[in-house]
Amino acid sequence: MKIDLTELKNQPGAAAVFALTQEFPAGWLERDGCFLHSPVTLEAEVRNAGPSFSVGARVTAELKVICDLCLAETVQPISFSFDDEWAPAERAAGAAQEQLDTTLFFAKDEVELDDRLREFFLLHLPMRFVCRPDCRGLCPSCGADLNAGECDCRRETDPRLTALLDFLGESE
Ligand SMILES: [Zn+2]
Ligand SMILES: [Zn+2]
Repeated sequence: MKIDLTELKNQPGAAAVFALTQEFPAGWLERDGCFLHSPVTLEAEVRNAGPSFSVGARVTAELKVICDLCLAETVQPISFSFDDEWAPAERAAGAAQEQLDTTLFFAKDEVELDDRLREFFLLHLPMRFVCRPDCRGLCPSCGADLNAGECDCRRETDPRLTALLDFLGESE
């Protein structure tokens, strides 16, 4: 995903809105259990603020995620906003360390956004994914999906009872 700032560069104080949609490979986010399920849409307002550009952007996409509790796949929308600062690569030489850490430097008036976009995605993804807020997960003993109903082993939590039933041949 690229944004060309050739025109905006010559208009100090001016702003422009860029709307871009791009398809990435499903595994592009490089996060376990989380895949892109749609193209990524970016809407960015970029302001020419002297040597650098200040950016306010909004990202939307659909993810296919694997529920941490029941392992079911679900499709979930994600959208988030971020602010950023972009500067021409030649400014990097005189920049303070703090600015180097927070600024995206670009060459030839063209901002290459892919890596930056992935960083912001990873910042905004939830810590874990669940298929729905009340997901009941899998039974720790037999692995049954408890969203589909109770499993038989849930009543036999006491191992001494299980052993006794085994002995009596009634554990089937
Ligand atoms: Zn689930
Ligand atoms: Zn079970």
